Amino acid sequence: MGHISIQELRKEFGDIVAVDDVSFEIEEGSFTSIVGPSGSGKSTILRMIGGFESPTDGRVLIDGEDVTDEPPFERDVNMVFQDLALFPHMTVGENIAYGLRYDDRNFTKKEREEKIESMLEMVALSGYADRDPEDLSGGEQQRIAVARALVKEPDLLLFDEPLASLDRKLRQRMQTELQRIQAKTGITFLYVTHDQEIALSVSDTLLLLNEGEIEQIGTPETVYEEPETSFAADFVGDVN
Ligand code: ADP
Ligand code: MG
Repeated sequence: MGHISIQELRKEFGDIVAVDDVSFEIEEGSFTSIVGPSGSGKSTILRMIGGFESPTDGRVLIDGEDVTDEPPFERDVNMVFQDLALFPHMTVGENIAYGLRYDDRNFTKKEREEKIESMLEMVALSGYADRDPEDLSGGEQQRIAVARALVKEPDLLLFDEPLASLDRKLRQRMQTELQRIQAKTGITFLYVTHDQEIALSVSDTLLLLNEGEIEQIGTPETVYEEPETSFAADFVGDVN
């Protein structure tokens, strides 16, 4: 069994089946991207894994432990949302410290400050702790949101289209940065995007979703070079 095991996961909203009995495994330390058209259930799957949405049916296991009924802060998981939502009334450092609010490691003030600084270093923004979020560029704010999610050192980091609001050039820079952070921390990344470029260039597993079901899962190379369904062929054919 994988590090993360998704078993027959299902979500209905009234008559809508958003996620239709989906099962897959994720290896520890891997970078998995979920792609698929708008409305295919990408965000709903991520939210169920993070504990922000209760499944209608099915289970989520992390390291063999069934966390399906655990609230988000009881899971060794964190999520970076599309609208990054830094708190404007807090400094950059306070925003990152907020990521430790459920942490039971009882850091001293000095340890906390060191931890925050090491997170800033991780996202290449050393010395930014006392800055105001609103004085930062969009890309810098996004990196702070990543630092805030990283600070509690989760086993799994979920990203829901975190770069969608950035321009193309910045997006490419951030992709490289995220890949570097993932390699350095060894945290498992599950990354929802409709940017096929990132899915192809940085992930080691690609999961293609269509109408709440898995259309294909494999290495990006396999999915792109050997699409198994006409939907997959059409979808990957849209690249470039
Ligand atoms: P994606 O992230 O791939 O665009 P979503 O997971 O957001 O897809 O949505 C999947 C389906 O579930 C869509 O049909 C969407 O309208 C529906 N849906 C998502 N969230 C809700 C909700 N809170 N209430 C009702 N329907 C929802
Ligand atoms: Mg979505």
